[in-house]
Amino acid sequence: MSQFWSPLVRTLTPYVPGEQPKVSGLIKLNTNENPYPPSPAVMAAMHAVTADSLRLYPDPDSSQLKQTLAAYHKVKPEEIFVGNGSDEVLAFVFMALLKHDAPLLFPDITYSFYPVYCKLYGIDYDEVALTQQMEISTADYIDRDCGAIIFPNPNAPTGIPLPLSTIENLLIAKPNTLVVVDEAYVDFGGETAMPLTQRYPNLLVVRTFSKSRSLAGLRVGFAVGHKDLIDGMERVKNSFNSYPMDRVAVAGAIASYQDEAYFQKTLSDVITNREQTTQALQKLGFSVLPSSANFVFATHSAFSAEQLAAGLRERAIIVRHFKHPRINQYLRISIGTQEECSKLIEALTQLT
Ligand code: PMP
Repeated sequence: MSQFWSPLVRTLTPYVPGEQPKVSGLIKLNTNENPYPPSPAVMAAMHAVTADSLRLYPDPDSSQLKQTLAAYHKVKPEEIFVGNGSDEVLAFVFMALLKHDAPLLFPDITYSFYPVYCKLYGIDYDEVALTQQMEISTADYIDRDCGAIIFPNPNAPTGIPLPLSTIENLLIAKPNTLVVVDEAYVDFGGETAMPLTQRYPNLLVVRTFSKSRSLAGLRVGFAVGHKDLIDGMERVKNSFNSYPMDRVAVAGAIASYQDEAYFQKTLSDVITNREQTTQALQKLGFSVLPSSANFVFATHSAFSAEQLAAGLRERAIIVRHFKHPRINQYLRISIGTQEECSKLIEALTQLT
């Protein structure tokens, strides 16, 4: 701790991201990355960025990328905000749209970065317990006073999705409350709320290229919502950082949307691997929550999750286990390639 730190910095507990091992040969199933590489078209587009164009600053508005996203998702470019990964997009949501006089509501359990941002941006929060079945019950949010609501759909780390009709009912029941739906994993089997942005000005949908588009290393995310919400975020962004996306990232991101066949193929491969892995885990005695994401959340009544994770680590496989009191017996396993998933099951067969 330095004498030069501000009082805020003294109170912060930095977020610890999942392990990113430096050694190769490990099977990395701990941070929900895609096991398949990005489309060759993405790599070609990034290689095609010229030295001369890199000499110049990028388009401060990322208009080409916004147009590509708008056409694909059937919204207007002015209804889109882009940023360096959805964590950065969320930072702009917190700065521009969240209230300081009423708490933000989110599920207990959910993406652990939300409370970190609350602390950083001075936003109060309340956690709303999941049901016994580990589901989000939107009814539990309706009667509570709050400044805004945020949840992932499907939720993380459970993988359980909410139907669109439930989200729509929440938007109708709380027309004066901003509802942020974090769709980091929606492509793997959830229903997107993006079309609802055309009818509900209190909805903001946040997306990332890090999971279904295999581009966690590129840092691209975006939000879709009513123009007024986007204008608020742009106003903050333009007050200190008017170049959200670099030219290489823009080229790669646009190309990703131009190779739909590759996108659909990798999605369906991940989904197939998830279903096979779920069945194999169940055969080993695990109970596995019904996941619509690219990870599964599994627990075994006879074996501690911590010990299983340690046993897997000894066998060069990295997964996550949780210390949170409600879920400390759960493993969260990101879905790998078919070969990686088979090795995982082989290792767990030895350990159980
Ligand atoms: N939301 C959720 C629910 C996530 O799990 C993650 C990644 N772990 C993110 C947002 C952030 O993803 P990124 O910043 O890579 O877009």
